[in-house]
Amino acid sequence: MKIMIAKTAGFCMGVRRAVDIALDASNRIDEPIYSFGPLIHNPQVLSLLKEKGLAVIDQVPDKGSGTVIIRAHGVPPDKIKGLEKAGYNVIDATCPRVIKVQTIIKKHSSQGEAIIIVGDHDHPEVTGLLGYAGERKYVVDSLESMDNLPVFDKAIIVAQTTQNIHFFNRVKEWSNKRAPHYTIFNTICDSTEKRQAEASRLAESVDAVIVVGGFNSGNTRRLAEVAKEAGKPSFHVEDETGLDMSYLSEVESIGITAGASTPNWVINNIYRKIETLPYKKLKRWHHAVLSIQRILLMTNIYVAIGAGCLTYASSKLQGIDNNLSYIMIAFLYVLSMHTFNNLIETKADRYNNPDRAFFYQKNFFLMACLAVTAGGAGLLTAYTKGLIPFLILLAMSIMGGMYNLKLVPERFSLVNYRRIKDIPGSKTILIVLAWGVATSLFPVISAKGALNTSTFSVLIWAMGIVFVRTAFFDILDMQGDRIVGRETLPIFLGEQKTRALLKKLLVFLSVLPLLFGLFGLLPFSAAILFIVPVLLFLIIIANENRKLLPGFRLVFLVETGFVLIGMLAFLIFTFS
Ligand code: SF4
Repeated sequence: MKIMIAKTAGFCMGVRRAVDIALDASNRIDEPIYSFGPLIHNPQVLSLLKEKGLAVIDQVPDKGSGTVIIRAHGVPPDKIKGLEKAGYNVIDATCPRVIKVQTIIKKHSSQGEAIIIVGDHDHPEVTGLLGYAGERKYVVDSLESMDNLPVFDKAIIVAQTTQNIHFFNRVKEWSNKRAPHYTIFNTICDSTEKRQAEASRLAESVDAVIVVGGFNSGNTRRLAEVAKEAGKPSFHVEDETGLDMSYLSEVESIGITAGASTPNWVINNIYRKIETLPYKKLKRWHHAVLSIQRILLMTNIYVAIGAGCLTYASSKLQGIDNNLSYIMIAFLYVLSMHTFNNLIETKADRYNNPDRAFFYQKNFFLMACLAVTAGGAGLLTAYTKGLIPFLILLAMSIMGGMYNLKLVPERFSLVNYRRIKDIPGSKTILIVLAWGVATSLFPVISAKGALNTSTFSVLIWAMGIVFVRTAFFDILDMQGDRIVGRETLPIFLGEQKTRALLKKLLVFLSVLPLLFGLFGLLPFSAAILFIVPVLLFLIIIANENRKLLPGFRLVFLVETGFVLIGMLAFLIFTFS
């Protein structure tokens, strides 16, 4: 089945920023947090923010304490002053595009010009804009109301950012005829328009369209209308429970779009559900393959096979031929740690991967047994290699187990980082270190008792690839991680910067084996490993363009990169 996702689906920049600010504040600040008016028109996000302790206030009280977040629409400046005077700490999450309109209004009203706002009288954004407009301010929502205004000597016309562009163009025509000396600023945000245009194009190219978003969200309802106008069946759902699975399993292609206030995790959940849909025309063997892939990923067996393959390649490149026990140790260690983490991270998985969260809740005992057995078997195997290998693996296992534990007691209130998990980027860095040691250092220390000239090259390259894998998955899980307060690298650096970093790193990693070959640090034939960074680069680009959304296909492809490393190493050492 073909699934197409609109690039514009989900949070617009301003809403994303406001929700991120609110989630970060609720994770960071212990005192009460409020939003001034509902932060966003989406039931899941509002109930989540409530769960995180964010209450809503609509009025400025005389006295108060805590933090108030100003929502993306903005508010009049006197409200901000009033909140600060009452004793609140104010965090302004007004969308930068709205701030731009506020700034235009403030500048021109201070020069004595009349302010005409094309918008809806009772819209919160318009209420906020009026607060910057001084005495001569007017809101117009029809050409008649323009006719009723006096002609000013000096005036500007601006628009509410979500105003209908066709109406604003008519106001412009009116002004050019009747009051050509007025200055017109087109302050409409193109986000809504682009979203509707894409929904229309999407509907034309698929059999059915799913529109995701709150039933009370005006822009989401409009998207559903746009899809219907294209003559295709369209389903407006708030979450995956509203999907008509029976109907959808009959169609060959499905398009997904979503309103500006729909969070990624809701869109991803819809995608995951459709992705595993038993498409009726699919062949039986294909169903079986999909089920096996899913089980291998859920149980972390596939990621552990990847670790084993990386160990095979690393040890061969370091001249260790008798490497089966090291492959087993890396396999068992990664299987144990990843399963252990999945068992204790079901809260974040509720948003990032509800299918996995459900699987681990349902099979808690079984998966706990798997984690313990794999961990114990790994330690036993390490012990057969000597005391030092055993102690190294034990230390790595304890580090992994301590990640979520509170190491600094509450009474040391000056220390912000009580758990390793609280340190920005710690999850990404720890996974990379653990994989680097397990797959590249452990075999050479155990087998040879010392590092050799290839170790540095192998370790750098392997850790680079693991870093890309981990940071990329962290990007996909950003919203869920933010909800539970996990400090991953993309949350610390920002999504765009992390993506740019990963792409540059992959280019570097693709030429690195060749460079190592030229300097005699690795066999020249190791240059063929460039295939893996290139594959990961293509996956990241496909994800950026919404050709591959987070789901088991994407994860399976990324993990296959590690299996590929093992296969390429096998080719290098078999045919050279
Ligand atoms: S629609 Fe545009 S102006 Fe409004 S919050 Fe989103 S990005 Fe900002």
